[in-house]
Amino acid sequence: MAKTLIVSNRLPVKITQTEKGLSLEPSAGGLATGLGSIYKQGENIWIGWPGLYLNDEASKDNVAEELKTENMSPVWLTAEEIKDYYEGFSNETLWPNFHYFPQYVEFNEDYWEAYKRVNRKFADAIMALAEEDDTIWLHDYQLLLVPEMLRETLPHAQIGFFQHIPFPSYEIFRMLPWRRELLVGMLGSDLIGFHTYDDMRHFLSAVNRLAGFSNEHGVITTGKRKVKVESYPMGIDYDKYERTAASGETLEREVRYRRSLGDHKLMLSIDRLDYSKGIPQRLRAFEHLLREYPEYREQVSLLIVVVPSRDQVEKYSNLKDEIELLVGRINGQYGRLNWRPIHYFYRSYPLHALSAFYRMSHVALVTPMRDGMNLVCKEYIASKLDQRGVLILSEMAGASKELSDAILVNPNNQDQMMEAMHRALTMPEEEQKQHMEIMQTSLRRYNIHHWVSMFMGDLEEMKASQRGTLTRLLDTKLQNQLKKAYTKGKKRVLFLDYDGTMVGFTKDPNEARPDKELLDLITQLADDPQNRVIIISGRGRDTLEKWLGHLSVDFIVEHGVWMREQGKDWELAGKVTDVWKEDMRKTLDLYVDRTPGSFIEEKNYSLVWHFRKVETGLGELRSRELCSHLRFLSTNEDLQVLEGDMVVEIKNRNVNKGRGASAWLQRFPGDFTFAAGDDWTDEDTFKAMPKEAYTIKVGSKNTAARFYVESHHNVRAILKDLIE
Ligand code: UDP
Repeated sequence: MAKTLIVSNRLPVKITQTEKGLSLEPSAGGLATGLGSIYKQGENIWIGWPGLYLNDEASKDNVAEELKTENMSPVWLTAEEIKDYYEGFSNETLWPNFHYFPQYVEFNEDYWEAYKRVNRKFADAIMALAEEDDTIWLHDYQLLLVPEMLRETLPHAQIGFFQHIPFPSYEIFRMLPWRRELLVGMLGSDLIGFHTYDDMRHFLSAVNRLAGFSNEHGVITTGKRKVKVESYPMGIDYDKYERTAASGETLEREVRYRRSLGDHKLMLSIDRLDYSKGIPQRLRAFEHLLREYPEYREQVSLLIVVVPSRDQVEKYSNLKDEIELLVGRINGQYGRLNWRPIHYFYRSYPLHALSAFYRMSHVALVTPMRDGMNLVCKEYIASKLDQRGVLILSEMAGASKELSDAILVNPNNQDQMMEAMHRALTMPEEEQKQHMEIMQTSLRRYNIHHWVSMFMGDLEEMKASQRGTLTRLLDTKLQNQLKKAYTKGKKRVLFLDYDGTMVGFTKDPNEARPDKELLDLITQLADDPQNRVIIISGRGRDTLEKWLGHLSVDFIVEHGVWMREQGKDWELAGKVTDVWKEDMRKTLDLYVDRTPGSFIEEKNYSLVWHFRKVETGLGELRSRELCSHLRFLSTNEDLQVLEGDMVVEIKNRNVNKGRGASAWLQRFPGDFTFAAGDDWTDEDTFKAMPKEAYTIKVGSKNTAARFYVESHHNVRAILKDLIE
């Protein structure tokens, strides 16, 4: 039976050394709870680092044995690996870059090497346990390279990847020297999930610009496979927070804490120590409030919990110093014997204590500079059983996309933060409840279990659609079948598109002339008296005649305008005119003026606007504009606007490759028909072929062809195989 493997850097377990030996305490964190419904079932398993270093094999085996009873399997890492791969590349390179702190990024080749090594270690650990049709769900930025590493040996496995931190804008991401490898690593997945639409958008744009793969509605076609990219905002275990807030222990703590703190209104702030959380900015905004609104002095206190994290790293210990300096300064300046402005704690708290804090606080201040999602704000809302309380939320947190009923702020805008606090502290109870109600309803529905089932559902679906395309890939088995049919054929007809099918694309179309290998190949194919080879192309007849005219081939060119039987004269395919060209050229000229790098190619009966050399993004934008412009101008004429690979072409409507190919098949019927093409003008050719014809599309996009291959190299290899 196929099983599911969950993989993350860290196993959801805390292992401690006790007098009786090691003790295992499974984590109660949100992710572990949500995924619990998966990894605890049957043969399923969670793979990751157990969080401790062991040197001798016997103790490793012991721990592995123990973990196995919890459906977990360890990846052992050394202290050195944790230093370079985890603390180094993951946390000092990827983390700051992905959180928009490029000035904090360490560019260290040793870190990168360690990252690759440890990702390989994870991939090996997975492959030792995974079988061909298993489902593998990888988590987070520490493992970006693993999907592609797995794909090499498990081409048919379902691989999902979820990134829990933001994906930055292309302009930030491109600063990483290893940007392309990272993207290619991720693209080994079938499904890639982010928290928000913006993260997904940024990722798609980076893939387009750095790896050259475009997407349609979030589905990337890499040439090998389809990769779906989607946003799944992660929720919390809502019931748990609601239940905890109603529990006796929480209520007892609340009473106790209240007694010590007095009855001042409380504003709450809880984060890990991290520069992305905007803690100093928040403290300064609070100071600003006390300065500008003196009425809050002795009335309102800030309860701030900073959870220790990475404080051996200099940037983090500096941040801690900065926070403590600010707290000291504000308390020193504004504090009274009976009132402390800020209650500061550098420690972590158990669940019931947090729940009591959530209940007690009139306002939650969640104002990170950048946060993938942020769960604290969701937990605060779930804990507000009486619906009294206000959430102030940074628009830079992923959660802000869902929680538009919070007071949203820009954490860099101190005045706005101050006014938000003022508004929160004076908000009428009725209004508080209205907002809470809406946010609670939403969080109850989009909880952690919903998140897991959405992602797993899509991964399942992706696999089914992947099967659809995989069966069509012209693999060795199909190729043998093709060769058999070819050998049996006595009168064979082969239609070959040129650009993108027999040669790759070049920036300048004039550079795509046939190389010796290709000329030899076509010559051999065409010289076989049982073969009829037709070059069927969108190119003008002059170029093709110059390049291939000396071979024994037929031509259907300019998308079917001109045709030529070998040894005879060119003939026009039908009624075509060129009187429209003058006007249309003026329009195209306008677009060339506005779009540096673009140019016009003129053929006898068509005009082509090329934008391969135009800045990425701009070309696509202008081509859409141009298409609708041309379609508007040509409504009353017998013209057709085509979008090809980085080109827009306008031509006579009543000719196309399909009509040309049909005419040829009537003239020269065969007992073996073959057609290869790469863009959608070739779809007309495919459609004109008899059902049993071997039609081959380069690239795996939607197509009427029966088979597809990855690139023009494959087409050449197939043809070579046929003539051997
Ligand atoms: N948390 C905790 N103990 C504490 C303070 C916070 O367990 O003393 C938890 C909190 O309940 C939340 C998580 O830590 O579930 C923080 O998640 P968030 O997404 O807000 O921030 P991250 O630390 O993942 O960047």
